[in-house]
Amino acid sequence: MTAQRIDGTVIAGELREKIRTRAEAFLAREGRRPALIALQVGESASSKVYTDSQARAASAASINYQLRCLPESASEADIRNALAEIGADDDIDGVILQMPLPAGIDTHAMQMAIPPAKDVEGVHPENLGKLYYRGTRSPAPCTPMAVVKLLRTYGGTLAGKEAVIIGHSEIVGKPIAMLLLASATEAPTVRVCHVATRDLESHVREADILIVAAGVSGAKYGAWKRGARDGETPDLRPLIPGEWIKSGAIVLDVAINRIPAVLNEQGCAVLDEERKPVVGPEGKRIVTTGDVDYESAAERASAITPVPGGVGPITVQVLLRNTLLCAEQRETVK
Ligand code: NAD
Repeated sequence: MTAQRIDGTVIAGELREKIRTRAEAFLAREGRRPALIALQVGESASSKVYTDSQARAASAASINYQLRCLPESASEADIRNALAEIGADDDIDGVILQMPLPAGIDTHAMQMAIPPAKDVEGVHPENLGKLYYRGTRSPAPCTPMAVVKLLRTYGGTLAGKEAVIIGHSEIVGKPIAMLLLASATEAPTVRVCHVATRDLESHVREADILIVAAGVSGAKYGAWKRGARDGETPDLRPLIPGEWIKSGAIVLDVAINRIPAVLNEQGCAVLDEERKPVVGPEGKRIVTTGDVDYESAAERASAITPVPGGVGPITVQVLLRNTLLCAEQRETVK
């Protein structure tokens, strides 16, 4: 079997058009576009890549986007004040608190300070709690919603299937499990695996639906770069080899791993004489890859997401759809 390659950019394009139509209807009713603000504390090159791409996606969907920056030295009180101001501003519908926050800032405490009605990433405990209740219209975490959108499009009926999630973080693995269990009668059987799971292979082999969000290769490479594995060449083989995939499974690879472009046959980074990763094709030092060995998994799966270009593009559109949802809900309570 050769799997269908799931092109997330196509679904993302369809979602964007629906969001734009609704955003323009909102503009006609309210005299302003739905507005999203990104609050960034400190600066980093990677956060600029994210905010630039959010700004482009928002503009294409007819949503206003602004970036508000606080200095690296901002205290927790400063961040709380900025979030409270955003909460009180009638012209702002949604806020993203950009991660990572500077060292020493309590991320969970700051997420709890996000106004729940404007929490477009669905990370406030009030919104996470609502995931527990079926049919509640509240902003849910974006990547889990993107996964559900893909399953609805490609997964056929979910009822009674074996769904295996690898990763149990608060923003990815756990909310995916809650969303999959949302239907009273149509839900799959859900298993959540994580770093302490014994015999991961046996779970993966039974999965009709496999959702992988561990980010393992990136973490191994990061640890090695920081010196934790100094003197060793990191083994960057994907967590899930293709031979584990059940024939006909649908495989959604959520992970984003940034690793050296040149790997040897054992999946280890090729190093130069100074033990630096060798530059890959087109002068790129780093490639983006997932947790699943795409080529060999595609021989057994019925459908599979590539990395990049699978779950990621849909995640951004869910963020914009959540902005619209928050704008429309604030409109109805006026
Ligand atoms: P996290 O580090 O918070 O959680 C990682 C999870 O993987 C944990 O539950 C951990 O127990 C599990 N895990 C680690 N090693 C494992 C192993 N060897 N076997 C089984 N389980 C293992 O990460 P996160 O924030 O949930 O993100 C996970 C991945 O998804 C990362 O690569 C991240 O970049 C990516 N991500 C992608 C998107 C997107 O839009 N595509 C959005 C968010 C996160």
